[in-house]
This record gives sequence, C-alpha cells and structure tokens, in this order.
Amino acid sequence: MNYLYGPVPSRRLGLSLGVSPIPKKTCNYACVYCQLGHTDHMTNTRQSFFDFHEIIKEFEEIKKSNVLYDVVSIVGEGEPTLYKDLKTLIVELKKRTDKPVTVITNGALLYNQEVKDALMKADIVLPSMDAYNEDTFKKINRPHGHLKFNEVVEGLISFSHAYQGELWLEIMLIKGMNDDEHSLKMFKEKLQYIKYNKLYLNTPIRPPAEVGIFPIDQKVMDHFSKELEGISIDLLSSIGFQSDIKDDITAIKSIIKRHPMNQYEILNFLKTRSCSNPQFILNKLKKDTDIEVVLYRNYQTYRLK
Ligand code: SF4
Repeated sequence: MNYLYGPVPSRRLGLSLGVSPIPKKTCNYACVYCQLGHTDHMTNTRQSFFDFHEIIKEFEEIKKSNVLYDVVSIVGEGEPTLYKDLKTLIVELKKRTDKPVTVITNGALLYNQEVKDALMKADIVLPSMDAYNEDTFKKINRPHGHLKFNEVVEGLISFSHAYQGELWLEIMLIKGMNDDEHSLKMFKEKLQYIKYNKLYLNTPIRPPAEVGIFPIDQKVMDHFSKELEGISIDLLSSIGFQSDIKDDITAIKSIIKRHPMNQYEILNFLKTRSCSNPQFILNKLKKDTDIEVVLYRNYQTYRLK
C-alpha cells in the first residue's frame, strides 16, 4: 500500500483509516513539534502529487478485506490541502464508504477558495491554530514565506462560518511558547470569531522535530482546558493499531511511516496479531537501519527515517 495505512487509533476519531496524498514531509509549515521530523519539502504550491485513481484503487482493495474502521482520514505525511485533487479525492472516497471522511489540516490554506471548496465536501475538518499572532506563528509553525498569520486566521474564520460539517479545532500547547496567561488571553480572543464544534488541546507527546520542545504541565493543561472549554487529548499509549499486511515488520513500518509508535503500542499491536515473539520483532526493529528510535518522556518512539 502506498497511500493507505492503518487503521490507526486516533484519540479524536477512533479507528482511523489513513489516506496520504502527499509525499513524505511535504508541508507549508515546519512546526517545531512535528512528530514526522523536519519538513524536507517546504512548499506552498498545490500539486497533483499522485494520481487520485491510484489512491482510490488502494481504497477499494482495502474495502474488499472488510477491515473495520470508524472514519477515513485524509492526513498523511505532510499537509493534505497541498494536494490539488483533494476535492475529487474526498468526493470519490465518499461514494465508496458510509463512514465519515475527515481531513486533518494545519489550516494554513483556508484562505484559498479551491481549498475551501474541497473541504466543504468533508464530513469533519480538523484544523490547527497553535499561534495567536505573527510572532508565535513564526516561532511555532515556522511557515512558508508566503503565509501571513492574519490571512491564515481570516481564512479559518471565514471557512468556519461557511462550513456545514463538523469543525474540530486543535491547539498544540508547548511549554514556554504558548502556555502562559498572555497566550491564554490571546487564544480566548481569537476563538470568539471562529465557529467550531469542538476544541481539542494537545501537547507534544511524541518526539518533536526540534530539541528543547516540551509538553506543558498537567496543571497548565487543566487550566487551559477549563478556561477555553477545550478537551485535553494528552493520553499517551494507544491501542487498536491494525494492518492488513501479513508480515509484522512490514506492517509496523507502514504505520510508523506516518504515525510513530512507542514500544508499548508496538507490543500491543503484535499481540493482537498473535505474534509468537513480540520482543524478538521489537529487537529487529531496533536494529533496522530504516528506523530511528527516539527516547522521549521515557518512551522509546519508533519512526521511519
Ligand atoms: S505538524 Fe503538520 S503542519 Fe506542522 S510541519 Fe508537521 S506535517 Fe506540517
């Protein structure tokens, strides 16, 4: 499978069948907390990176295997709104499933009419808003040079009022960057203008792209959740990863290419596949030169290089 992966457990969406229409680490942001590592291909130009027929072909193959999932999520290895055929992709996926089709986006291109039109077709849109001014935007998201904070937020505001589906907003809170009282006040101020159904508050729980990036304290998370009436999603270990791929190592590699896993998640995953020696597989993964194992918050996190 080149474009589909999982299903993987999502803390917001349940069992999420991932669709990735974007080449590895292709994005218009280079967020300091990105769990995929550094953005290798920084671009703000929308492109037909892959033929959508090929993506749909894989989706049909997966459907034949009767895999269980709660939602189809267009997400992947970079920013999915950079995919020029996003609208067609959403429409074609919706013809083939009765589950919600969702798009997880950094929200940067919501000022672009084509992107707006595409996202209107999705059942759930999950945009991020980690910054509250140009300065925090540059520090946290490190956007492409053509992106301006005010334009991005205006796009989010206007999309949120036009969109008929569910809009679930996410803010990534980072220790020392956007977790103080001033930031709280600024977020409150911005949120008044956005029409959303849910607000999720997250913090970097998997190894970030940069050193020196830390999750916020639980006390601060509780304070922000209360003040912003948001839902905290700082749960660490997830169960429910699945893959149709028979070979254990290949299956894990196909997941961690887009979704890093810690050692407990890998062991749980292997147990659900009745693997006779999960520790042996874990040791093999550790030695695999395609994989890097990052120690973060006392968890070994496995991700593809
Ligand atoms: S976190 Fe998302 S938006 Fe930020 S750099 Fe990574 S892929 Fe891009």
